[in-house]
Amino acid sequence: MSASSDSQRMEKIVSLCKRRGFIFQSSEIYGGLNGCWDYGPLGVELKRNLKNYWWRVTVHERDDVVGMDGAILMNRAVWKASGHEDTFSDPMVDCRSCKARLRADQLIEKKGAKQCPNCGGKDLTEPRAFNLMFKTYVGATEDESSITYLRPETAQAIFVQFKNVLEVSRKKLPFGIAQIGKAFRNEINPRNFTFRSREFEQMELEYFCRAEEGMQLLEYWKEERLKFYENIGIPRDKLHVKTVSDEERAFYSKGTYDIEYDFPFGRQELEGVAYRTDYDLSQHQKASGKSLEYFDEETKQKFIPHVVEPSAGVDRTLLALICEAYAEDQAPDEKGKMETRTVLRFHPRMAPIKCAVFPLLKNKEQLVAKAKEIVDLLRLHMSVFYDESGAIGRRYRRQDEIGTPFGVTVDFETLGEKGRQLQDTVTLRDRDSMKQERVAIKDLPSILTARIS
Ligand code: ATP
Repeated sequence: MSASSDSQRMEKIVSLCKRRGFIFQSSEIYGGLNGCWDYGPLGVELKRNLKNYWWRVTVHERDDVVGMDGAILMNRAVWKASGHEDTFSDPMVDCRSCKARLRADQLIEKKGAKQCPNCGGKDLTEPRAFNLMFKTYVGATEDESSITYLRPETAQAIFVQFKNVLEVSRKKLPFGIAQIGKAFRNEINPRNFTFRSREFEQMELEYFCRAEEGMQLLEYWKEERLKFYENIGIPRDKLHVKTVSDEERAFYSKGTYDIEYDFPFGRQELEGVAYRTDYDLSQHQKASGKSLEYFDEETKQKFIPHVVEPSAGVDRTLLALICEAYAEDQAPDEKGKMETRTVLRFHPRMAPIKCAVFPLLKNKEQLVAKAKEIVDLLRLHMSVFYDESGAIGRRYRRQDEIGTPFGVTVDFETLGEKGRQLQDTVTLRDRDSMKQERVAIKDLPSILTARIS
């Protein structure tokens, strides 16, 4: 696809997200706040489905992982010990011509000279370190002693609670602690819709192990995480594993992979999977003076565990899901004439609404009553949407556009008006193939739950 059709595609996606209530600009009526986004009624459902599925496969379906939910505000000492206060920064450059603030790696290079990507200007300042953490004060006095930061990652809460969680969960190595939560980074240049935001959510797992298992578990988790993306509907050929080079890798990491996805705006990171050695726990043990060691009952040895960290972004993955699902195809309108249809082909597991229920006509009481009965029946198992307004074809299109995988229509056959055989059956329409099958109402919950779980 050409760059211009990719950017048109992205524009259509952004506009659909707003029009149908997936994602809005934060504080929009006041002109917005750069790098911050709100999720609307459909966006919040999609996000929940994503987080719940991550939690299900990472925590519930495993014996060796437990969860936790740490506070966003932590003692400043955490950020000193972790190295964030001194080194969590991006090199920032100012363009003296157009006054743009840029990340040094966003400059373009032409004939060996660095240029501003906005105006092409070459009058640039030297790069200087810009700390990405949002500073705040805790308590009534705003002085040096009350400073702390909004967390730029969720992981540190896991490290500093390592001992408590180990004691209460009575896990043996290797085992993991998982967490989903908000993180904040004062990004120099937020861009590409929600891809680079200042407030976002992470899904992080810290998988603790013995030093000798680290490299092998790094490979294991990279593969697990690739499977995860495939299971939510991102095909393997759109995913890429980048081995982070020695120069780019954090000095304490013995191996890091970035899992990348082909977004319409280019190949970009979805997740980092890093073998972080025993760096984090060692730093916190040193700084706090509290033991963060593990006691191996078999060998009677005490040591600081190593850790492998798969760290994924909720918002980036959600954006990838929408980009991957977005499609335009041809479908017949009411009169059988072909027209362009916009459809979000979400994996049914991720779709915000699983099934829409339609009475064929809204002014026929028995059709409406039956349709509402079906809504009540299905609501216990999944998110359902009832729609009685407009021609049936138009109602299908509205659901296609938000990715609802199944549509149930109650018609005169359902009421038994065309013979007893079809009484209490409905048509079940598939979003992607647009094919319809006739199924008994009583079988709907089991048919649909099997297809969405
Ligand atoms: P990048 O190089 O793109 O800034 P990073 O390498 O700094 O990302 P990590 O610190 O490894 O990112 O964070 C883990 C994950 O958290 C990322 O893979 C991404 O999914 C998510 N994430 C990080 N920063 C942002 C952001 N500004 N907006 C949205 N998601 C983010």
